[in-house]
Amino acid sequence: NKFVYLFGNDETEGKNSMKDLLGGKGANLAEMSNLEIPVPVGFTITTEVCTLYLKDEHYPAGLEGQIDNAIKELERTTGKRFGDLNNPLLLSVRSGARVSMPGMMDTVLNLGLNDSSVVGLANKTGNDRFAYDSYRRFLTMFADVVLGIEHEKFESTLTAKKKDKGVKQDTDLDVDDLKGLVEKFKGIIKEETGKDFPQEAREQLQMAIDAVFGSWNNQRAITYRRLNAIPGKWGTAVNVQSMVYGNMGDTSGTGVAFTRDPATGEKRFFGEYLINAQGEDVVAGIRTPQPIKTLKNNMPEVYNQLVDIYMKLEDHFRDMQDIEFTIEKGKLFMLQTRTGKRTAAAAIKIATDMVEEGLIDKETALTRVEPAQVDRLLHPNIDPDATPDVIANGLPASPGAAVGEVVFTAEHAEERAKKGEKTILVRAETSPEDIGGMNAAEGILTVRGGMTSHAAVVARGMGKPCVAGCGEIVIDMKEKNFHVGEHTINEGDMISIDGSTGDVILGEVELILPGVSSELEQILSWADEVRTLKVRTNADTPHDAKVARDFGAEGIGLCRTEHMFFGEDRIPAVREMIMAEEIDVRKAALKKLLPMQREDFIGIFRAMEGYPVTIRLLDPPLHEFLPNHEEAIEKLAELNASDAPQTELDRVKKVIGRIEYLKEMNPMLGHRGCRLGITYPEIYEMQAQAIIEAACELTKEGMTIVPEIMIPLISNIEELEFVKRHVIKVVEAVMEEKSIKLDYMIGTMIELPRAALTADQIAKEAEFFSFGTNDLTQTTFGFSRDDAGKFLPFYLESGILEDDPFAVLDQEGVGQLVKIGIEKGRATRPDIKIGICGEHGGEPKSVKFGHNVGLNYVSCSPFRVPIARLAAAHAVI
Ligand code: ADP
Ligand code: MG
Ligand code: MG
Repeated sequence: NKFVYLFGNDETEGKNSMKDLLGGKGANLAEMSNLEIPVPVGFTITTEVCTLYLKDEHYPAGLEGQIDNAIKELERTTGKRFGDLNNPLLLSVRSGARVSMPGMMDTVLNLGLNDSSVVGLANKTGNDRFAYDSYRRFLTMFADVVLGIEHEKFESTLTAKKKDKGVKQDTDLDVDDLKGLVEKFKGIIKEETGKDFPQEAREQLQMAIDAVFGSWNNQRAITYRRLNAIPGKWGTAVNVQSMVYGNMGDTSGTGVAFTRDPATGEKRFFGEYLINAQGEDVVAGIRTPQPIKTLKNNMPEVYNQLVDIYMKLEDHFRDMQDIEFTIEKGKLFMLQTRTGKRTAAAAIKIATDMVEEGLIDKETALTRVEPAQVDRLLHPNIDPDATPDVIANGLPASPGAAVGEVVFTAEHAEERAKKGEKTILVRAETSPEDIGGMNAAEGILTVRGGMTSHAAVVARGMGKPCVAGCGEIVIDMKEKNFHVGEHTINEGDMISIDGSTGDVILGEVELILPGVSSELEQILSWADEVRTLKVRTNADTPHDAKVARDFGAEGIGLCRTEHMFFGEDRIPAVREMIMAEEIDVRKAALKKLLPMQREDFIGIFRAMEGYPVTIRLLDPPLHEFLPNHEEAIEKLAELNASDAPQTELDRVKKVIGRIEYLKEMNPMLGHRGCRLGITYPEIYEMQAQAIIEAACELTKEGMTIVPEIMIPLISNIEELEFVKRHVIKVVEAVMEEKSIKLDYMIGTMIELPRAALTADQIAKEAEFFSFGTNDLTQTTFGFSRDDAGKFLPFYLESGILEDDPFAVLDQEGVGQLVKIGIEKGRATRPDIKIGICGEHGGEPKSVKFGHNVGLNYVSCSPFRVPIARLAAAHAVI
């Protein structure tokens, strides 16, 4: 069995397509070697070894020999020797899973150094400072990653040293300082582990490999995987690579770059580098790096070579790349290339640009944009008319604006988010431990670090607004506040940040939603060409209908009439109707509602001109429209006190009596939906009349309206027959009176398990089905939507449920009922139109499911229409 694959010389054994086995980093290092791009020689230990090691708790036979042989190959290529005292080969040990997990797994650089070989390295290179700088870095990283000693212990020792000397930068320390640090660091290791720092190179290597594999199961990695739905069984590979040195003086350096701007998608080389530094310095934000364009003047040849390489890489991978490089005494080496993370806006711009450049086709472009990214693009920005009180400015690290209360720790952000509170996480810099808190916060503000710092990269990936490297801010963790200029901002104070400009703003600013950009229009129109699933919207007002149409909705899948009943002008008539004990009184109240309801429908039909509109008849229990019990009692007391007229008093007493009467133990399973239409047919009759009168009026204006009347909460065919009879009677009467013949449909919601199971019978009467997956989820699980908050979070945390079934359709259970409903419905009525109108209609996974089971359309809230359009296209590709 082959466990080890070489790269970086003419023996390269891997390639890009072997990501599953070699991890993303390893496969791409091999691919770069194949493209004849300079990569330091190294080898990859496969992900398979990780899986075996974590399962069996020991390595597979033969691995050790393969590693030893690979090291010999590295020695042959470099002319150095691992563990040698005079000319030591130093290694980096790097993790690399199938997909990049930024900062999740740690890297050890300069492995192979010890008390003797550091002298050899100094002699060989003639650079003492460099040798001891490398050694102190190695000790720090090895202690942190492999021995699990807090990084802070080393960091504070280093900081103290700099303070002692009165210098700011690591590069200001001289060789004696560094020698001193090395001794101190070894002391810390001895103290913390009770053992001396391991001097033997092969032992160091083995320990580092163990640590990388082991770190696959550390808490940070697990959290990241959970947030990004990465399976634990994938495992990570380990890359062992010969070192190249960016810390050999002023003609050396290290940097990271993107082949296009990861924030805007603009086609320009974008990146930063540090002279006389090693890898992690750039990402950790230890010194503020220089923009890549200055390299053009500093080292023109290297710059040109780098440009050639990045263009070659982008051409080859046909996608924006995120690259790492190191310059050793004027010689360029590539250390990594991967598909670059980007903001939603950049994803869309790059995808459309690359189609134009002929690099990719339209379908590929569609797959480059995640539906969730579209969601982010529709996220808030600062209202341009606002006059924000800008107190500081940092780097615009991840666009969008956020408002929240200041918190200083990730735990705090998480706690507050659980209570539904909005926070801005303010940190000196972030590290992988902060991921959970970053996810919970509305936005992130850091004091240190550049555009490629941990905070920036992670925030962009999450679509969270982030302002990074805001050096004007001074955080005082003890006092729990931060200072900037003359301002002191305490924990809990409200601030706003604008990740598109880098502004930090005092207090709360107005946010607005951006429109759809022309590139997004482009992507969505390509999506429309590909998808077969229609996308409708849930809208109850002409305004929402209009917004949804602008987002590309092709009709209304759910117009909830109860929302109309709450209007201030009509709630008195609605209450009259509910209070009525005799049918005549009720009819009189309904008569008052009729013209208002008719106007509602005229407005909606007009806004949706030319598209189908499904109107659901009244659904919620009637008590929802009455004042609540306490309010009514208060009113009663008030009246008594002021010696009110008898009639007024009676009225209030009557209301209270009616409230008592209508009170239900379990209103969601109570007197609602079609049950109202059966006990009070005149309510549905009024609504049907309003719908048809509205349609007739617009027909006279020359519009074509096909109203779809939807009966909610059917569990039994007899219910539907009953309601339908009453509705048809009215519909026919109106058409006769107006002398207009309309096409109209009567259908039903399928939102109770019994309806799904008897859909063959129901389809005899129903001309369309709409799966109300909110209630269907509620009734299938037996989870009350209103009470599930008490236990669902625990279910999700403990893994009993993978997703919240009210957000992501439960395909196994609820989905099965949907499938049964579709099958049985179509068996009776092959051309029956079927859609879904629950929250799930705009959730990408559920949309895909809807496509696969053969729905005709999904219906979702207006802002999710673009997401659903793209998700429906992805379902086809
Ligand atoms: P990450 O996945 O966190 O980016 P990497 O394995 O890429 O971790 O390594 C971290 C840093 O170390 C990077 O900046 C990289 O450029 C640097 N590095 C890794 N291997 C070498 C090497 N062989 N020589 C010099 N620097 C290296
Ligand atoms: Mg790292
Ligand atoms: Mg890297």
